[in-house]
Amino acid sequence: MKYSIGLDVGGTNIRGAAISIKGEILFKSKLATNVSSGRESVTNNILTLINSIITHMKSSPISVGIGVAGLIRGETGIVSESPNFPDWIEYDLKTTLQTSLNLDLLVENDANAAAVGEGWLGSAKEEKNYCLLTLGTGIGGGVVLGGNIWRGVDGMAGELGHINIYPEGRKCGCGNRGCLEQYASAQGIVKSAIEAFPSKTLDNISAKDVFEMAQKGDSAAIHILSDAGRSLGIAITDLVNILNVRMFIIGGGVAGAWDYLIGPIKEEIFTRAYKVNRENVVIKRALLGDDAGIVGAARLAIDRAE
Ligand SMILES: [Zn+2]
Repeated sequence: MKYSIGLDVGGTNIRGAAISIKGEILFKSKLATNVSSGRESVTNNILTLINSIITHMKSSPISVGIGVAGLIRGETGIVSESPNFPDWIEYDLKTTLQTSLNLDLLVENDANAAAVGEGWLGSAKEEKNYCLLTLGTGIGGGVVLGGNIWRGVDGMAGELGHINIYPEGRKCGCGNRGCLEQYASAQGIVKSAIEAFPSKTLDNISAKDVFEMAQKGDSAAIHILSDAGRSLGIAITDLVNILNVRMFIIGGGVAGAWDYLIGPIKEEIFTRAYKVNRENVVIKRALLGDDAGIVGAARLAIDRAE
């Protein structure tokens, strides 16, 4: 059977799957990343996982797609920098892997891969123009226009977590202040909780705690989550006005607080966006969860091989 391999190289695990060209997940496997053991060791773990999938499938894939967080220099497959791997500076991951594998291979930003995955088998099926926002520790973003990822000139496009919400707001790792990520990611929600409950510290409160407090009716926790929703709505309004896309897919762990987020998101879009642009906007939850990146990486690999 013709298949490709999709991989998601995360900070904790390397997850991979063999996926048929029709989109059936044939086999899934994972391995600990072991970031602290260094670049060479992580690269070897990637190779081990790919080889174990090939052994299981008893045949070679038509190609391999690999999703990694960070700035990927387009077709070259060079990882310019990655938040998960501090020692991957201008690291030619593609060539390094290809030397050992002798397979067609591509490297893609993990959020872009997830956006493609949701478009192939998930919430954005059949949709040619959409944005994905993944609300995890930070916020990942992917912009798909006319069926293709918009990567930008340097491969840096789609950093939707860094849309500005409060010009003088919380300091962000990107160098700016008040980015969406500082308010609507898990880390952002923790920061809001520490502001709301000054006795709490980073060690003893998580975004999940805030969610559970909200479920018990705690008004401050509900306020924090609806504020996160408002920030998302403000950011999506910019995307609606700039791109005039119809569909926005929201994934990641924080999307679990959907019931608290979706009202404020819609309200902000409705009050802020251009009328014509906002009329047909659809906000959906992501469908594939952690598999989105793997599925998308496999799909990109299939597209390239065909
Ligand atoms: Zn930022």
